[in-house]
Amino acid sequence: MKKIAVIGAGTAGLASAIRLKALGYDVTIFEKNEKIGGRMYQIKEQGFTFDVGPTIVMMPSLYEEVFKISGVDPKDYIDMQRVDPMFEVFFRDQTKLTATNDLVQMTLDNEKISEEDAQGYMAYLADVYKRYLVAKKYFIDRTFRKPIDFYNPKMLYKALQLKTLSSAYRSISKFVKNEKLRQSLAFQTLYIGVSPYNGPSIYTIIPMIELLYGVWYIKGGMYSMAKAMERRFIEMGGKILLNQNVESFEIKHKEIQGIKVNGRHVDGFDAYLSNADFPWAMNNLIHDKKSKGKYTPKKINKMLYSSSSFLLYIGTDKKYKTNLHSIFFAQDFNGNIDDLFEGNIPKDPSFYVYSPSQVDDTMAPESKEVLYVLVPVPNLNDSGEVWTDEQIESYKQKVLDLLSTKEQFKDIKEHIEVLKMYTPNDFKTNFNLQFGATFGLRPTLLQSNYFRPQNKFKYLKNLYFAGSSNHPGAGVPIVLNSAKLAVSEIDKDLK
Ligand SMILES: Cc1cc2nc3c(=O)[nH]c(=O)nc-3n(C[C@H](O)[C@H](O)[C@H](O)COP(=O)(O)OP(=O)(O)OC[C@H]3O[C@@H](n4cnc5c(N)ncnc54)[C@H](O)[C@@H]3O)c2cc1C
Repeated sequence: MKKIAVIGAGTAGLASAIRLKALGYDVTIFEKNEKIGGRMYQIKEQGFTFDVGPTIVMMPSLYEEVFKISGVDPKDYIDMQRVDPMFEVFFRDQTKLTATNDLVQMTLDNEKISEEDAQGYMAYLADVYKRYLVAKKYFIDRTFRKPIDFYNPKMLYKALQLKTLSSAYRSISKFVKNEKLRQSLAFQTLYIGVSPYNGPSIYTIIPMIELLYGVWYIKGGMYSMAKAMERRFIEMGGKILLNQNVESFEIKHKEIQGIKVNGRHVDGFDAYLSNADFPWAMNNLIHDKKSKGKYTPKKINKMLYSSSSFLLYIGTDKKYKTNLHSIFFAQDFNGNIDDLFEGNIPKDPSFYVYSPSQVDDTMAPESKEVLYVLVPVPNLNDSGEVWTDEQIESYKQKVLDLLSTKEQFKDIKEHIEVLKMYTPNDFKTNFNLQFGATFGLRPTLLQSNYFRPQNKFKYLKNLYFAGSSNHPGAGVPIVLNSAKLAVSEIDKDLK
């Protein structure tokens, strides 16, 4: 039986491991942390349960697929429910928009803005759905090994059909006129750390996916998905080794012959699948210059990175009336986005609040609430290493001040029982994310599809990658796909 080492028990690491096991490989995961999950991490404190990173479940079929392909019923592993309304968006002038995928409600709500915008909204959905089908078939669901896989007339024509040269905001503005409606369809590019004003317009597929496929919640929070994958992998006979820091790849004749783990040499594997963030792995796991190929330290530093996140995880001693997902826009959203991507810590940020205890009473003690507050901030390359203890404390106060200006949270400061934080520094050190960029390499046109680091590493015979900074990109469903593609590449070579 061929043996595979997986470095990292993040979403893509676990999903890859299950897929490899299902194909009959002997699989061992080496995870540096004491717990699995990677960014899909969890903090438990005084009866409160906090998801650390991902919270919004989209494309549930990709979650389910990981269990289905291993021969079990996903329902026995993850308990998913549809969320409707999906989220609320609050503007500074006290108005709000409610996002629903109830077509009747959606039409009535949009008609209140204008019939023209209601029509434009539908036209936007139809246009993006068409582009999504092209993206899925020709780009998201396939790998690119050789230049000819991309540079051929058919693929170039399909790339043109994506119409991705414009920005998300500009592309939406062609269909809807109302500024608030535009913003409510544009901000979602921040889910993958790109600007709605500059990122490729194809990322307008994110709100389309929310609207057409729904937003879901997994009982117990997102971490339940990581735990369910861990459970399935162990049931299948897989091995997970925790607190195992992979320090380097030992390379000879263009091949990895072993790995250094916690100072000792480990070998005997036919292939190595890295779930460690690609740019970090290039700089830290491959030491000899030749084996890095074009990914030299200079190139890695010059690549563009997604934004990062500053998070407060708050447990309160009372209940709050809020939605599962709420977005609060800055007064000047455009200025806020400029700050974010020009490396300035936003002074008046937009932010997102997730309150799983609204729908799941296992997340907080009775009559108490969990509030997860996410503020997008620049990555450490763009901002510099700014997060000193004093700066963290002062930004925490700023975010709490801002939160308490919202009607539903006006007394928040008097009711905090537990408060934990995550800053870009934590993302950098806890999960080895280059520059603390929470969504990995930024998916610009020149860092997407064929141009994104591929699942099969070109410069070494037996190295593969699955994760946010690799093809096809960031976000839980997309890294689940990255796992699928990486495993198909391994199987192609080892079969
Ligand atoms: C704040 C935040 C909010 C988000 N919100 C959403 C959301 O709502 N919905 C959504 O779909 N996505 C969301 N995402 C994105 C999503 O979380 C990620 O795209 C996904 O979880 C990344 O998974 P991964 O497997 O690529 O990497 P990771 O989760 O980072 O896993 C990599 C693993 O490798 C381990 N590792 C690294 N180096 C080594 C080493 N040398 N030795 C051993 N182990 C190592 C790490 O410890 C980690 O466990 C969010 C992310 C963040 C941070």
